[in-house]
Order: sequence, then C-alpha cells, then structure tokens
Amino acid sequence: AGPAILPATVLEQARDSILEVDGTGIGILEHSHRGPAFTKVINDARDSCRAVGNVPDDFEILFLQGGASSMFAFVPLNLLPEGRAADYIHTGAWTRKAIADARLIGDARTIWDGESCSFRHLPEDGELQPTDDPAYTYYCSNNTIYGTMWSAPHAATGTLVNDASSEMFSRPIDWNVHDLVYAGAQKNLGPAGVTLVIIRKGLLEQSRQDLPSMFRFDKHAEQGSCLNTPPTFGIHVMGLVFRWIHEQGGLEAMHDRNLAKAAKLYESIDASGGFYTGHARPDCRSTMNVTFACPTPE
Ligand SMILES: *Cc1c(COP(=O)(O)O)cnc(C)c1O
Repeated sequence: AGPAILPATVLEQARDSILEVDGTGIGILEHSHRGPAFTKVINDARDSCRAVGNVPDDFEILFLQGGASSMFAFVPLNLLPEGRAADYIHTGAWTRKAIADARLIGDARTIWDGESCSFRHLPEDGELQPTDDPAYTYYCSNNTIYGTMWSAPHAATGTLVNDASSEMFSRPIDWNVHDLVYAGAQKNLGPAGVTLVIIRKGLLEQSRQDLPSMFRFDKHAEQGSCLNTPPTFGIHVMGLVFRWIHEQGGLEAMHDRNLAKAAKLYESIDASGGFYTGHARPDCRSTMNVTFACPTPE
C-alpha cells in the first residue's frame, strides 16, 4: 500500500515528458492546464480510463485532489441529505475512518461491524442489517490493512459506493451494481495527488447544491476536472498507466496476473507449517494485500 512500483516504460515516458511534450518546447510540469497540450493529456487520460475500465457512457470520470481520504467527507456531503441515512459496511481501518467522517455530516449507520472478528472476514449472507431506503450503501472492496477482498461486489438495491483505493483496475469492475467508485492513485494507478472518481451521471443531478464549489462533484464534472488547477503531472502519469494496462491485455489480464502472484504468496504461507499465519480467512483473502504474521513479534 501507499506509493508503489510503476511500470518502467511508464516512468521512461514520464521522464521524457518532463522535458518536453509533443514538440512544444516545454514539459508537462510547465504547460498551462487551460492550454491545448494539457487538454490533450487530460482527454487522453479520460478516454483511456473509460476504455480500459469498460466505463459506460452514463458515468463521469473525475480527477480530483485530496486523496481517497477526502472522499470520506465528499461522499456524504454530496449524497447524504438531512432526513436520510447512509449504510456503511465496516470491514477495516479505512471504513472506520469513512464512518467517523460521515457521522460529522449526517446519519451514517454501521450495518455490519467486523471489529469482533478482527476483520478476518467479510459479512456472511444475511448478516447485514440494511436501513430502509438508504441514501447510499458504502463498502470497501479491498481492505488494504487486514487483507480481505470482496470476491463479488456487495449486492445493494440502491446507490452503491465503493472505496476501491487499493485494488482499482486490478480486475474488472461491474458497472451495473456500482454508482460511485473511487481510488487514490498512488496504490495502483500513478503518483500520489490524484483521486480517480467514477460516478454515475444521475447521482450528479441529485447532489447537494448548497456546498462550496470545490466540494461539489457536479461542479468538477461540469468543468471536466478543471474547476481549478488539477494535478496535471499526476493525471498525465495515470493516463500512461491506463495505456500500459491496455497493452498488457486489460483488466482481465491484470486479474489473472494478480491471482497468480497472490497464489504464490498464499501457498508459501500455507506451506510454512504454521510459521507464517495469514490474517484473512482463506475465503476472503485479497489478491492485492497479502497479510500474515510471524510466530513472535521479533
Ligand atoms: C490508502 C487508502 C485510503 C487513503 O488514501 P489517501 O489517498 O492516502 O487518502 C483510503 N481507502 C483505502 C481502502 C486505502 O487503501
């Protein structure tokens, strides 16, 4: 977790683009965010995100700032009106923070709490206690610190929000069930400083109108993520990563690769005769964050 390895070819392209973009004489760090060179960069990044992620046309792709953590407030500010509740599935350290922030803003309810199982597993069928008609249901598809991962999306009836920060584009995303999926870039997609937000257009229309513009999804969408100066370099590198994923065979190929890599680690843990103990229950194991302990703290 946190900033992680980027493909060498992406780093080389990023290096070259610091010196010069498209024969313009100046580099990506120097181009105006309103100029044609950067407009092409952000349009390319958006288009390749849509292509590689199979993102349908009724979703908006936003490049925001403030990290995934800013979404802990952004989501309830925009989508949790007075008089309604939002349902949170509490599966780890990041949902704990999301719930705490959402409670500062509105009626955020924990409909499943993994504290008592030390977040070793995810909810079983029938264990959730959803609210009647929640404004949205919120879950985290990969629990970075505890190493659990939903093998299929949570089956909510209404609006579904997913913090996919530590697994974004590690496997295909089902856009039929999700309405808002977000991720800080630095774990899977690029450098720190960009937050990728993919939101159903219908949700933009429902979002609150009485917020400062920098905190409104709809304002960012209207301005093509250039409401203010966006993190231009981060968006550029993200675009390069999307293309790289595409060249590798897309999200299906990423998924196969990640399953194979994780299997090697889990096989070693399981064959260690108890020396290594995995934290997550085997049926909830993450392909992205493999968590284990040693026999003694030393
Ligand atoms: C890392 C992480 C975050 C926080 O990301 P920042 O970009 O540092 O704010 C939030 N959610 C999950 C699941 C994470 O893994």
